[in-house]
Amino acid sequence: MKTETKTYQNLVGGEWIGADGELFENRNPADSRDVVGLFPKASVEDTRSAVAAARSALSGWANTPAPARGAILDKASQILSARLDEMATILTREEGKTLAEAKGEVTRARDIFRYYSGEGWRYGGQALPSNQSGELLYTRREPLGVISIITPWNFPIAIPAWKIAPALIYGNTVVFKPAEDAPQIGLMLVEALLEAGLPPGVINYLTGDGPVVGGEMVSNPGVNGISFTGSHAVGAEIYGRAIKNMTRVQLEMGGKNALVILKDADLDVAVDLTVKGGFGLTGQACTATSRVIVETAIADEYVAALAKAARKLVVGNGLEAGVQMGPAINQAQREIDQKYIALGQSEGARLVAGGLAEERDGYYVPATVFDHVEPGMRIAQEEIFGPVISVIRANNLDEAIEKTNAIPFGLSAGIVTNDLQRAFAFANRAEVGVVKINEPTTGLALNAPFGGFKQSSANTFKEMGQAAVDFYTRTKTIYVGHG
Ligand code: NAD
Repeated sequence: MKTETKTYQNLVGGEWIGADGELFENRNPADSRDVVGLFPKASVEDTRSAVAAARSALSGWANTPAPARGAILDKASQILSARLDEMATILTREEGKTLAEAKGEVTRARDIFRYYSGEGWRYGGQALPSNQSGELLYTRREPLGVISIITPWNFPIAIPAWKIAPALIYGNTVVFKPAEDAPQIGLMLVEALLEAGLPPGVINYLTGDGPVVGGEMVSNPGVNGISFTGSHAVGAEIYGRAIKNMTRVQLEMGGKNALVILKDADLDVAVDLTVKGGFGLTGQACTATSRVIVETAIADEYVAALAKAARKLVVGNGLEAGVQMGPAINQAQREIDQKYIALGQSEGARLVAGGLAEERDGYYVPATVFDHVEPGMRIAQEEIFGPVISVIRANNLDEAIEKTNAIPFGLSAGIVTNDLQRAFAFANRAEVGVVKINEPTTGLALNAPFGGFKQSSANTFKEMGQAAVDFYTRTKTIYVGHG
């Protein structure tokens, strides 16, 4: 696809800036000729200005009645709805997921704004019984302040939405930095908020290098809260810096999610759930199925069916009809996928589908399945973030649970079975923040708390639903006596 390359700008305190400075390209991972846009590399100074602008806008926004803030979020949600097709196309062009996946993601962002617009009428403090006669004792939820929101490329509108919407409804102001690989859909979200009537400075949008822009967003003393989703390496660094300033921090990071398949499972259902969770979104979801732990009794039959389904998947440009799986996000991620595929073979796992891809335009990786993977192998321990599934065998449920938990991560895990007792035993004993019974390991409800255990999370605050109020507000306790 050949299109005219446009230069986009950053937003600081209601002013558009950055088109005349250093720029970087946002390129379609499915088509190297398609430059989606040019974006500014913001500086440390720009970032400081954005934090200062957010601070200046804070009191006006915090004192706007919450239902009035909600009305702006609701309007933004309607704008997203009206632009669904246009936005989904941009999302596919910059991130590579299929158009159907992109539509689903924009729809999710719309629904998140709709949900939090209603929170403006609902959230509040608590009135408490007092042990002093005639005393009024109550709590008040106040905005936390200026929030730095740093997001990854893999859900470049849903994740910003599930951070920005609660930040705004609870009266905070925001500095938002999307990932370098997919910055435009986040900009479209910011534009929708401005059109909906968000005052200048309440949201500020910056693009550029993670360590430069993100680094300042983390260490600037004017920031009261940091909400980050991304890799474990970057999250760990952010945590260290945030602690120095005692800044409240929420981190959601990597996963190595297992789907357990018990011998009573319907094989067609098991394969379908594996394909959706493992190859949907090109395996580039934090909750993607990257390990399957299958009871030995059905393992051969299951692996044969899974390999057949993997080979049938249509891999290509997500804009084209019939394509079921898009490319990796960039050349570096493609190389990581390839490196792990080669590693799996050298570690002695048996490749039964996919494998090393031929070079062609677009960062494609075939849907890949390894059988006879041992839990200690690196392909079974490390996050790959691509369409690579490792099948591990287990003799019974206890062994399957032990293998599910034998990794540093704890984000999502699933089980396929018709045996309720065993399903609930798994739900209780899996060391993960999200358990899926007879569902793919991917897919989340916007009104339910979300967050990982172990190295998948800072284990501080959950995201989404009403859990978000804990991160985005501070609680004040008020005593009213007689003097
Ligand atoms: P990443 O960590 O490379 O980047 C995430 C964001 O951090 C980007 O905006 C980047 O510019 C910024 N950044 C980079 N260096 C920084 C620094 N030194 N200081 C501050 N900010 C910095 O992650 P990615 O490659 O964009 O995303 C993939 C990762 O995200 C995977 O590990 C995946 O599991 C994880 N992820 C987790 C969840 C979840 O909810 N648990 C959801 C989606 C993705």
